[in-house]
Order: sequence, then structure tokens, then C-alpha cells
Amino acid sequence: MSLYRDEGIVLRTHKLGEADRIVTVLTRRTGKIRGVAKGVRRTMSRFGARLEPFTHVDLQLHNGRTLDVITQAETIHPYGEALVHDYPRYTAGSAMLETADRLIMGEKEPALRQFLLLVGGLRTLGSGGHEPRLVLDAYFLRSLAVAGYAPALEACARCKAPAVRAFAIVAGGVVCGACRPAGSAVPAGETIALMSALLKGDWATADASEGRHRAECSGLVAAYLQWHLEHGIRSLRHVEREPAS
Ligand SMILES: [Zn+2]
Repeated sequence: MSLYRDEGIVLRTHKLGEADRIVTVLTRRTGKIRGVAKGVRRTMSRFGARLEPFTHVDLQLHNGRTLDVITQAETIHPYGEALVHDYPRYTAGSAMLETADRLIMGEKEPALRQFLLLVGGLRTLGSGGHEPRLVLDAYFLRSLAVAGYAPALEACARCKAPAVRAFAIVAGGVVCGACRPAGSAVPAGETIALMSALLKGDWATADASEGRHRAECSGLVAAYLQWHLEHGIRSLRHVEREPAS
């Protein structure tokens, strides 16, 4: 068995047998890993407390036959502490962890940019400087972009025409009048500008936005994310791998 070290954010944990937990971590170098923490449910162990969701931990692991075994865990930063007494921030943080877990499907495939986005998102959320839903929507848009699914926001997603009006999830973003599929949403121009600001990290514009545009933006981003998580990602990956004819 060989040892390795990495740092990461604990995404989730679940029970294994009487005393153990399986801990899913998005690490800086290795990508997403699942490791067994032995004996952590038997006692009020400090080891176990370091392996709670939201915690940025430094880990030492043994390569196991099926699952790796976590042999050491040291806290780098407990991001959960700033979130646990603030329900909107806590739920936004939980949605980030779940999205990272679902968006990064493969284990031990390095995902440095996703790791950095998640750390940045949790830090921004905990600092309290911006509305939690804006921080979450920025995280959703940017993690989708890193995964290769940035929505088109400047020109028509289908024909690249500059004059756009509607937003169509199936088309991959904003669309012009000619390309617009039936049933596509027609958001305010300010809502598209807000999505663009969140994607770029332009907080001055995002913080100055109005509530109704934030609400409309959240609805579109949630629907866009959901579509990619449930229907898009596997099939699009498959399509992209096929050779061009
Ligand atoms: Zn078009």
C-alpha cells in the first residue's frame, strides 16, 4: 500500500458499517476522492470532526484495494463555521458542495480549477460581503463554464447573431428571434447582464442589481444547471468524443 497526501474540501460523508464513514473530498491535486475514515463514529473523535462537510482539510491516505483509507486529517480552514448559524448561507454552501460532487463525476481525475472555484465560493460566502444567492449563482455559472458548459450570453448560441432576446436552455444560452425555440424564456436585458457579471466575477455590477433581476437570474441559472446535471453532461460528453464526419 502506498501513502499520499493532498488537501481538499469535504463534500459529503456517509456511514459505513458500525463505526466508519466514507468521506468524499474534492482535492487540489488528485481530484475527487472517496476515503474511509475508520472508527470515527465510535467516539467523539476530533479526527471525525475534521472530516465534516465544508471543512478544508489536509489529508494523508493509503491507497486501498477499493477505497482509500484516511490515516490523518488536519484542518486548514473550517468553512462550515461561518455558515452554520446563517440559514441562507448554509443552504447556498450545501448547494455548492452538492453541485461540485455531481458536476465532477470521475474520481481521481485532477480538477484544480473546480477545486479553486469551490474554495473561493465558500470563502466569499462566509465573508458575508455579497448576497448568498448571488454568490451561489456565480459559483453555478463558473463551475458550469469550467466543465465546458458556459451559457452564451453575448450573441445567439446557435447562429452568433448579436441581436438576442430570448434565453433557451436547450440551445445553450441566449438566442436570436430566428433561432428561438418555442417556450424559451424572455428575460429582461438586465438579467442577462447580471448573469454575465456573475460569470466574469464583476461584483460591482452584480451587487448593484435589482431584486427582480436577481430572482429572474436565479431561476434561469437553476434551470440551466439542472438541465446539464440531469440530461446534458453525459450525453454532451459522448457527442463531443465522436469524430467529425
Ligand atoms: Zn440565432
